[in-house]
Amino acid sequence: MRITLKEAEKFHGHLGPYLVLGILAGELALKKLRCRKYFDLEIKVFGANKKPKSCLIDGLQLSTGATYGKGNIEKLNGPVIKVEFYNRTYRKKIILKFKQSLIEKLKRIKTHRDSELLAKRLYKTEYNELFNLTPNTYNS
Ligand SMILES: [Zn+2]
Repeated sequence: MRITLKEAEKFHGHLGPYLVLGILAGELALKKLRCRKYFDLEIKVFGANKKPKSCLIDGLQLSTGATYGKGNIEKLNGPVIKVEFYNRTYRKKIILKFKQSLIEKLKRIKTHRDSELLAKRLYKTEYNELFNLTPNTYNS
């Protein structure tokens, strides 16, 4: 079942776009890699070291069940946000990046209210409007 915005806010403390993007990116990866939640997946998150970008990592943990405690999610340096998802069982990997249109939307946030509104809007957006996948498996 999908993580609700309420559950996400309860875990993370506030609602923001990066938190929601983490949830969506994790959901998409589980689907595309046919992973079971919690154990099948290894995640490397690049370029999300500081807040608010690092909020992405909490969203990813919520939706995938990969956690710091289990050691299957890791934070690394990078010039832009990039998330690598690896299915341990099938040895398959996908790489996810933000689309330029999404990056522009995130840049336009000025206030706390903008941030909450965008978070809510993103939650209802189709994955393919937000993320680029390598390999591109949207059409398969
Ligand atoms: Zn946050």
